[in-house]
Amino acid sequence: MNDCVFCRMVSGEIKPDIVYEDEWVLAFRDLNPKAPTHVLVVPREHIATLNDLEQKHAELVGRMYLAAKYVAEQDNIAEPGYRTVINCNAEAGQSVYHLHLHVLGGRTMTWPPG
Ligand code: AMP
Repeated sequence: MNDCVFCRMVSGEIKPDIVYEDEWVLAFRDLNPKAPTHVLVVPREHIATLNDLEQKHAELVGRMYLAAKYVAEQDNIAEPGYRTVINCNAEAGQSVYHLHLHVLGGRTMTWPPG
């Protein structure tokens, strides 16, 4: 059994609230949202962290950001503004070890992040 929760979503075993999908990525609403829009863009391929990216993933990374842009347009946060975040490893707060891009918007963001 695959114990990666995002792999189980990609396989269809767990059904998240999907807002976009294509051959490269799945995008779904975060279970514990930190903003009115909080979507996770997840590659179908299991890649544990940003540190595990390789040259062969170059197109995939572009596809992740194109999906984020699409989600932002669909949720009407593109023009007001939104934030994309990838947490890498423990000090950044990564809790699920399957690469994912957070898309956050619908409220004013502060900087620097905590
Ligand atoms: P990170 O802390 O950057 O690894 O982000 C992991 C995110 O996954 C968190 O924001 C969690 O709320 C979210 N998450 C964990 N399990 C689920 C789930 N079953 N469905 C949707 N989002 C989840």
